[in-house]
Amino acid sequence: MVITTTIPDHRAGELLHYTFASRYAGAPVPKFKMPEKSIPKEAAYQIINDELMLDGTPRLNLASFVTTWMEPECEKLMMASINKNYVDMDEYPVTTELQNRCVNMIAHLFNAPVGETETAVGVGTVGSSEAIMLAGLAFKRKWQAKRKSEGKPYDKPNIVTGANVQVCWEKFARYFEVELKEVKLSEGYYVMDPVKAVEMVDENTICVAAILGSTLTGEFENVKLLHELLTKKNEETGWDTPIHVDAASGGFIAPFLYPDLEWDFRLPLVKSINVSGHKYGLVYPGVGWVVWRTKEDLPDDLIFHINYLGSDQPTFTLNFSKGSSQIIAQYYQLIRLGFEGYKNIMENCMSNARVLKEGIEKMGRFDIVSKDVGVPLVAFSLKDSSKHTVFEISDSLRRFGWIVPAYTMAPDAQHIAVLRIVVREDFSRSLAERLIADIDKVVKELDTLPSRESTKAAHITATVEEKQHTEEEVLARWKRVLAAKRAGAC
Ligand SMILES: *Cc1c(COP(=O)(O)O)cnc(C)c1O
Repeated sequence: MVITTTIPDHRAGELLHYTFASRYAGAPVPKFKMPEKSIPKEAAYQIINDELMLDGTPRLNLASFVTTWMEPECEKLMMASINKNYVDMDEYPVTTELQNRCVNMIAHLFNAPVGETETAVGVGTVGSSEAIMLAGLAFKRKWQAKRKSEGKPYDKPNIVTGANVQVCWEKFARYFEVELKEVKLSEGYYVMDPVKAVEMVDENTICVAAILGSTLTGEFENVKLLHELLTKKNEETGWDTPIHVDAASGGFIAPFLYPDLEWDFRLPLVKSINVSGHKYGLVYPGVGWVVWRTKEDLPDDLIFHINYLGSDQPTFTLNFSKGSSQIIAQYYQLIRLGFEGYKNIMENCMSNARVLKEGIEKMGRFDIVSKDVGVPLVAFSLKDSSKHTVFEISDSLRRFGWIVPAYTMAPDAQHIAVLRIVVREDFSRSLAERLIADIDKVVKELDTLPSRESTKAAHITATVEEKQHTEEEVLARWKRVLAAKRAGAC
């Protein structure tokens, strides 16, 4: 998406000068306008491939939950279906069938009350964000219908979440005109407090959204306690405020590692759950899922019956055309791994996260903010950031190839800044050990450098400036390289 009016790297020129130009073509290619003339396919490939070399390496991107490795057999299936439009259900009925099987497997995994002869209610999406838009819409529509039937106003819907929600909830709230009521965090408590959440519920609350695997710390919110408190409040008030569980990252963790943890459809007020297939569902981006408890929880008037190229197809998505590869890949993972395979992988991730956590703890410089029960990640803050900050550590780790994000917590814990390392299937034990050694190196190195600011309060703004400063330096260096190239040197 392009929304800026000025192009930030304009200074570096409007033309792409590519390294092997003379082998293929004479003239450079314009960057912001479609070129007049065609170029050979080898040249196009070379130009793009060269530019992409400067992207980070996905497997070293420890910022992301999203899958960066799959088996070659599955990649083969994905490539073979890359030209298949998912929406052509009449033409590709088997792909549609595989999607339905995935929905059913996931619904059972989440303990949906689906009878032996029934099929589950749910849909494949581009990711949890789309899944959450759909689930949110269903709650809004149900609430509105009920209010209308009672002759009550239905123009001020709200949704209660923790301030730690992922940005897609804010998007949902803004796009679909629902007020987002956020329970504030506090130092040392980085998830939604169920007591405060239920206090915020009123007659206009369309649902309370709990997160299974907070994006910031991986911690599971206490859905069971939320359920207990909300059930009581519903009894007292006569409302029937439901719960949605955002299990984007935890939906493929909890059933395998903590089967006794009650967070899903075992709790009657939980009406819908979303999960990202491309996170611990172990599929490349983008695929997500949303499952409803029963047919009654998904209002009929949201379902479109499209008569497309000769057949009636019910759909509930925000888009029309999309690829089929991710759905097929999800089906592959579910049948290839089975319960046993997923369990082994999640246990392995967890034990690598533990190794990482222990190594970081041993340095004596950090407080661990993530919990032992949750999504396999390690979030940690500096015990003392008066001399150096987590942002400097993040920057320094880049030199070793590691991408470890540093960020501040949500309100009211913004003064806490943390580093977060997500452990995925492809992050091995030896990589974990290597990373510990590199963090140790970075911390010791920073010790020898003078503090860049003296007060703790100033560290966030100072780091932002410092980042800009480095960016300018890099840009200046590139400009010199480009100028030299233009002058004929290489
Ligand atoms: C990642 C995430 C999302 C968004 O999911 P996408 O699949 O990236 O759209 C929503 N909620 C939580 C808790 C997440 O971790």
